[in-house]
Amino acid sequence: MDKVYKFYTEDLAVRASFVNSTAICQEVVRRQGTDPLATIAMGRLLTGTILMASQLWENQSLSVRLEGDGPLGHLYAECSFEGNTRCYVSNPQIAAGSLPPEKLNLKSAIGEGILVVSRNLPFQKQPQSGIVPIVSGEISQDLAFYLQQSHQIPSVVSLTVTLDERGQIKLAGGVLLELIPGAPDSIINILEERARETIPLSRQLLEEASPETIVQGYVHQSRLKSVEHSHPIKFTCRCNQERVEKTLSLMGKATLSEMILKGEEVKAKCEFCGQHYSVGVERLREILHLKED
Ligand SMILES: [Zn+2]
Repeated sequence: MDKVYKFYTEDLAVRASFVNSTAICQEVVRRQGTDPLATIAMGRLLTGTILMASQLWENQSLSVRLEGDGPLGHLYAECSFEGNTRCYVSNPQIAAGSLPPEKLNLKSAIGEGILVVSRNLPFQKQPQSGIVPIVSGEISQDLAFYLQQSHQIPSVVSLTVTLDERGQIKLAGGVLLELIPGAPDSIINILEERARETIPLSRQLLEEASPETIVQGYVHQSRLKSVEHSHPIKFTCRCNQERVEKTLSLMGKATLSEMILKGEEVKAKCEFCGQHYSVGVERLREILHLKED
């Protein structure tokens, strides 16, 4: 199973995370049934979210939502510090003709809009949210922009998703570098330069370079120290029959009555994991009665 490797530089200037997210990305896009552009978007967003979540504390989680006006619709990914993750895209297949051939790229598929990051912290009812405009649509720069704008953390985010000739994920991974508060600001320029000059991440993944070798290529001349982080990344969905019924119970009485009058069971599909649920007419009656009490 995939896991995040965490490091910091010996001079306490930079903290870094690396993940080879191939397996988890392959699993989520299979569940979502994405076409190649949606696959790349989903893979990058999920990888970036996993890396950001690895820098939280225990029992914390975060979600990243890309709300663009492009044909992919909204993209959402969440991950906990412990590596439980799930994600979805509202339109896994871009409708034919919705983009002219010269605009069949990630930026146009996502479109213009906002990026919303929410952090769930234990003992806090409301998540802490930060919103920034989508600045590039390439996702890596958008996440770096968010970290800078919302948390004043100068950072470098490098994400890669490589497809095979059938449009399936061959390799996926990412590196996140963040300046530790108090580190000289000038180091970010060195990190950005190193990110441009280091061996491309896709090639390093293909050559199975070690996490330490990969991250060392991104940082300035300071030795890396590794941080223990032994949480495997796993797809975890929280859907169940009870939640589906809870959602139904939040609907208006008129809507529920209409469903009962139709005399058919209500079918629902989880947008994260694809699990199918159904609620029979008898149960709908019970839900309606409970509302009336
Ligand atoms: Zn589910």
